Formats: sequence, structure tokens, C-alpha cells
Amino acid sequence: MNAMAQIQELPAILADQIAAGEVIERPASVVKELVENAIDAHSCRIDVLVKEAGLAEIRVIDDGAGIPADQVPLAFRRHATSKITSKRELFRVTTMGFRGEALPSIASVADLTMVTAVAGADGYQYHVRGGEVLAQGVASARPGTDVTVSQLFYNTPARLKYLKSPQTELSQIVDMVYRLALGNPTVAISLTNNGKELFRSAGNGNLQQVIAAIYGVKVARKMVAIEGQDDDFTIHGYVSLPELTRAGRKYQTLLINHRYVRNFNLTKALIEGYGSKLMVGRYPFAVIDINLDPLLVDVNVHPAKREVRLSKEAQLGQLLTTTIQARLAQENLIPDVGEKT
Ligand code: ADP
Ligand code: MG
Repeated sequence: MNAMAQIQELPAILADQIAAGEVIERPASVVKELVENAIDAHSCRIDVLVKEAGLAEIRVIDDGAGIPADQVPLAFRRHATSKITSKRELFRVTTMGFRGEALPSIASVADLTMVTAVAGADGYQYHVRGGEVLAQGVASARPGTDVTVSQLFYNTPARLKYLKSPQTELSQIVDMVYRLALGNPTVAISLTNNGKELFRSAGNGNLQQVIAAIYGVKVARKMVAIEGQDDDFTIHGYVSLPELTRAGRKYQTLLINHRYVRNFNLTKALIEGYGSKLMVGRYPFAVIDINLDPLLVDVNVHPAKREVRLSKEAQLGQLLTTTIQARLAQENLIPDVGEKT
């Protein structure tokens, strides 16, 4: 038998690239991570500007808290985060991020320039490519953070090869921005590709207006508000009346504490609320924000946090079903009462 090679720790850059493989799959993942960082920084406005569906460039500009100049290099270190400091906090996460992996991951597989400033202080510029810092220093900037990513996966050809057509990558970005906007109606989010604006939310907190910006005013008008609550969960959002359906299953958006998640059982519970009112193969529009004690949800299951583990999932499903049932029954009793818009 051959002796195995000696055990060694991986160089940081290589470790970052491996981590990047889990977090950054495609341009839409870069958009997700950068916008989530902007949301965590309490931004009021976030502009996403991409070129060639993000294959050429992804830029995210926010007006949030910014990063103090002396902490910028640290932000690019793996597992460096300002969002949690202890295991106790890990189980009470209220921010979108907490793993401290996004920036080093992106920087290890692309060219990234960040310009950031906190109010009342000099800004800082940081340019890194393939994990190597090419330039950094004080720069004038307005408060907030501006990150430009280009040449995504230039040094990981296997990843690059798996990217789809610009059309597909763009539609992934669009879907991602929609979900982020639906989860954060108080933040004005825009998306522009090759100079053409594709989406803009007002950021005034009105969820129905965000729905209108995404699905159109006609759809938004045919959706009714739902509210439900039990000892553990508060749910609110909008669902379509049974006459407004689509063949696809992609129009049900579930948000847990503002975070978009996929959950088969909860989506099923939602649809069960319609009982026999839906035709076979037809699905409603729904956007439902579920608020719960962070202790009841483990978001640390999936690197991109798409899937979460919920305690009391069955109870929540029940609440979803009965809330929707009750709301739709009400609509049948008074068919002429339209929703205010
Ligand atoms: P995480 O979001 O999990 O903390 P990231 O690698 O995405 O990890 O970011 C590292 C840190 O950099 C964050 O914890 C935050 O302090 C800072 N940061 C990143 N992006 C921004 C931003 N747009 N505005 C302010 N701070 C930011
Ligand atoms: Mg982050």
C-alpha cells in the first residue's frame, strides 16, 4: 500500500475557492449575497447594475452603513463577520448573512472592487482578484458601499463552463431580485441590465405595490391580504383568488423572517387552503411572510440558506391552510367587495 501524503492545511485562497463552490454558483448568487449584505447594512436604497446578465459585470450600490476603512481587509477574510459573535447568536440570527463567507468567496473566483465609507469618515477602496489584493487605500466616497464584480469564474473553468445562456442567467437574477424585493418592501431595490431598467420597487413598505411591480397591476389587484397568528407564528401577505392561477408552481413565495425559502410542505399547506377551488394543475399566486422567533428556525442548513429547518413546521402548515381557507370563504360570502389597492 502506498503511504498517504502528509496532512496539510489548505492555503487560504484555495479554501476560499472551495467555499465559493458552495455559495457562488452563478451570477444570481453574487447578486443575492451582495444585496443581502446591503440589506443587513440597513440600506434604504439598493441598485443592482449588471452587464451581459452578470457574465460581464455585476455592480451593487447601497446607501447603508458602510464598512470602517480599517475593517475592510477583514471583511474579506473567511468566517469574518460583524453579524454574530457567539453560538448563542447563531441560533438567533436576524440578519441575512452570518457565515462570513460571501466576500472572500466572490473575491476568490472573480475580480472585485469595493468602495465603501461610513458617514463622516474617509472611504476605502479595495481591489482583489482571484483572492489576491491588487490595490487598496483611502478613497473619497459617499456613505454606503459600492461593489463591482467582473470576470466571474475566470480562474475556475469548470464553473464557467456550467453557466447557461445570458438569457437564463438573467432570468435567475431577475427572480432573485424579485424575492429580495418581496422580502424587503421597505427597501427600494432596482435592477438594470445593459443600461435597461428591468425592475424597481418603491421601498415604501407596501408589499402589494412590490407584487404589482413584479406580476403587474392586474394580478396584484386580484390578490387579497391575509393575516394569521398563533402562539408561535405571525403570517401576513397576499394570495390570489381561485380564479387567478397559473400552470407553474413558481408563483408561491414563502419568506421566513424576510428570507426567501423553499419548503415543499409549507407550499403544499398553502395550496391546501384552496381546497377544491383550484383546477387540476393550476396554482395560485401567493406571497407570504412568516414571522417567528429565530430560535424556531435553523438557517444554517444550506450554504446559500435556501432551505431552512423549522421546528413546528406542521403547526405552521396548519396555520397557513386555515388562514387561507378562512380568507377565501369570506370572499365567497361577499363576492362584490374588492380589495383596496
Ligand atoms: P456575512 O454577510 O455573512 O457577515 P460577508 O462575507 O458577506 O459575510 O461580509 C463580511 C462582512 O463585511 C459583513 O459581516 C459586514 O460587516 C461587512 N459588509 C459586507 N458588505 C457590506 C455592505 N454592503 N455594507 C456594510 N457592510 C458590509
Ligand atoms: Mg453576507
